[in-house]
Amino acid sequence: MSPEQLQRFKRLLESEQQSLLATRQAAKDSTRPVVLDQSSVGRLSRMDAMQGQAMAVESQRRRDVQLQRIQSALERIQNGEYGYCLVCEEEIYLPRLETDPAVPLCLDCASRREQSST
Ligand SMILES: [Zn+2]
Repeated sequence: MSPEQLQRFKRLLESEQQSLLATRQAAKDSTRPVVLDQSSVGRLSRMDAMQGQAMAVESQRRRDVQLQRIQSALERIQNGEYGYCLVCEEEIYLPRLETDPAVPLCLDCASRREQSST
């Protein structure tokens, strides 16, 4: 991978990181526990609120997972290990990185891992 390509992936990762952090901050309110307000909130809207909160927690969790992936990809760029599979250390196919710059495994290892976990 050329230094220019590496820089480009670094920028992609950093901008995704920035937008995830911003969304995460904005979403903090919606993951707070549902506060019961007996006077104004009926049973149905309370269930709505709880469901909405559960969904917000789930998407917050996914954002955290993605932030971690990005964080470790940025560390690999720092260490000069970016673009290599964490398992077999082969170069990761470039279009695969184009699709997901934070991807840590080559296609072979990723699909092997999926098979073993199912
Ligand atoms: Zn691999």
